[in-house]
Amino acid sequence: MNRTTTTATGTRLPDSLCTHTPKCPTADSPDREAARTTASHPEQGWSLLCNGIFLFEDTGELLPDGRAVAPHRPVAVAA
Ligand SMILES: [Zn+2]
Repeated sequence: MNRTTTTATGTRLPDSLCTHTPKCPTADSPDREAARTTASHPEQGWSLLCNGIFLFEDTGELLPDGRAVAPHRPVAVAA
């Protein structure tokens, strides 16, 4: 397969899928989880926020630049 060279950011998702007014927090923002859900797949355990973040049900995140964020809220464990 012929691999196309792009700019460093060329393969990223757009910085924001956000069409809201006012704009939601960006993926770099401390309150990035406040962005609205664009796609929700609870059966797979994740949601896509409009700032490009994948938010997993265990509160882990995958940022648009590929960084992963470990879960940071305690998950209720059903005994
Ligand atoms: Zn938005």
